[in-house]
Amino acid sequence: MIIVLFGAPGVGKGTQAAILAEKLNIAHLSTGDAFRAAIKNATPVGVLAKSYVDAGALVPDDVVARIVEETMEAPSFANGCILDGFPRTRAQADALQQLLAAKGLAVTCVVNLNVDDETIIHRLLARGREDDKEDIIRYRLDVYNKETAPLLEFYDGAGLLTSVDGLGTVEDVNERILAAIAVRQ
Ligand code: ADP
Repeated sequence: MIIVLFGAPGVGKGTQAAILAEKLNIAHLSTGDAFRAAIKNATPVGVLAKSYVDAGALVPDDVVARIVEETMEAPSFANGCILDGFPRTRAQADALQQLLAAKGLAVTCVVNLNVDDETIIHRLLARGREDDKEDIIRYRLDVYNKETAPLLEFYDGAGLLTSVDGLGTVEDVNERILAAIAVRQ
């Protein structure tokens, strides 16, 4: 089972992905977390990614592909995974499709979490990560709308997309996502 958790920065993908991974007993790949770890450890990928992550810009697709391929080799991914923050561009979606096809796999479903922009900005300012300054948040939302949101149409066209209301308690949203996945399995 390969589930793509989709949505703007701050919709709660990370929180939901961690819970889902545990409930469904599959791996969780957050490209944001992977980049932050790589930056902290100053790995070659981390060195390449740092300026982009700090600015709230997208890390180049080839660098993203490297970290995703490396991570998905891990034995914990044999059962499937939740992808959180990937893909974010059409090129990444194509790369994912190729990577999975080589293993005889395909995306099972794409769950889009919907939250309005003002709520997102409040949540992220409260989180206070280094890239959670208001101007960088607005820039990330802009990048999402321009580069990432168009993927919704792509996945909808492929018959893989379900949208879920991301407002409410963590448990409520989790139930909605589980229900959406159950329908698609
Ligand atoms: P958020 O969803 O709150 O923006 P993430 O942890 O998902 O936070 O991502 C943080 C940063 O990591 C992004 O702003 C971007 O610089 C980088 N990043 C994460 N995933 C990708 C990706 N798939 N493609 C390009 N850059 C990415």
